[in-house]
Amino acid sequence: MLKLLKEIFRTGEATVKYPFAPLEVSKDFRGKPEHEAEKCIACAACTIACPPNAIQMETDIEAGTRTWSINYGRCVFCGRCEESCPTGAIYLTPDFELAVGSKADLMRRAVFTLAQCEVCGKPFAPAKEIAYAGALLAQASEAEELTDRQRTLLATCPECKRRADLQKLADMAIARQMETRK
Ligand code: SF4
Ligand code: SF4
Repeated sequence: MLKLLKEIFRTGEATVKYPFAPLEVSKDFRGKPEHEAEKCIACAACTIACPPNAIQMETDIEAGTRTWSINYGRCVFCGRCEESCPTGAIYLTPDFELAVGSKADLMRRAVFTLAQCEVCGKPFAPAKEIAYAGALLAQASEAEELTDRQRTLLATCPECKRRADLQKLADMAIARQMETRK
């Protein structure tokens, strides 16, 4: 008996008190991804990186919004969203208690406003993403402010940019023809 008691004291507690006490997880534990909408620029990198499509984006041109959403029911806790996020807006946490009473409670959403194209007025990209790209551009060119051309390019939708490029090419071709006729 004494031998057994000695063995018990030597071994210590073999079980944990969870769920009556919090359970400590290892520092690299992959738990619930947390999303901070304030840091998010709605760039969609995480939606492309997410293998089971747990993260999605929907654009509503009429409302001028883009909705980011995550379905925790589909998440496989791989951490690719965290790796791909340029602003640190999504990251894995130690939280593993994800049980809910209804499927709808597994969803989280954030709505972002789309910026309107300076030329045609159509909403085309998240305003926060454009502001972020502008800040990166200014940083790269070490300028205090963006040039008018850079600002216009950022605020123009791809369709209008394409149209402007085609117009420029057509003007150049006409100018070249006139040169050869002289
Ligand atoms: S952890 Fe993996 S599966 Fe879960 S949301 Fe992020 S990328 Fe998708
Ligand atoms: S990658 Fe980051 S910034 Fe881009 S949409 Fe996902 S959470 Fe937002």
